[in-house]
Amino acid sequence: MATERTLSILKPDATRRNLTGKINAKFEAAGLRIVAQKRLQLSVAQAEAFYGVHRERGFFRDLVTFMVSGPVVVQVLEGEGAVAANREIMGATNPANAAPGTVRAEFAESIEANSVHGSDSAENAAVEIAFFFAGIEIVG
Ligand code: ADP
Ligand code: MG
Repeated sequence: MATERTLSILKPDATRRNLTGKINAKFEAAGLRIVAQKRLQLSVAQAEAFYGVHRERGFFRDLVTFMVSGPVVVQVLEGEGAVAANREIMGATNPANAAPGTVRAEFAESIEANSVHGSDSAENAAVEIAFFFAGIEIVG
């Protein structure tokens, strides 16, 4: 499998509980490299734009409110099949369904406050990385 990049976000529930190091350790233990990273406070407009695909979903307004409720850490992860590898490390969206040892099984508070975002395809990864990072900020 080819080396890929994926966009990861450590969500406000994770930064609030000071879990960024514990989550990053899981990425690194699984062989993913953090090749870009910054801490941000998203605006409502930015959160709405980032989650635009979910605009029609019933949980959209609550999701946006949650994502601006505190700082996030946005990052680019690089490695073999990074998109799928990161989804595996994250675990299922609903922590009740997340496999043991995954980030969401260990740390998520709820289906909404589920600690991490990860791109779901290589195509979306490219769009999501460009949303947050200039090329010069990504150092592989
Ligand atoms: P994932 O983050 O696993 O790719 P989705 O893309 O389907 O999941 O949803 C984006 C985010 O929206 C989830 O990570 C979670 O924070 C929130 N979310 C998804 N489904 C629900 C739901 N049924 N109720 C509340 N929040 C949800
Ligand atoms: Mg998703």
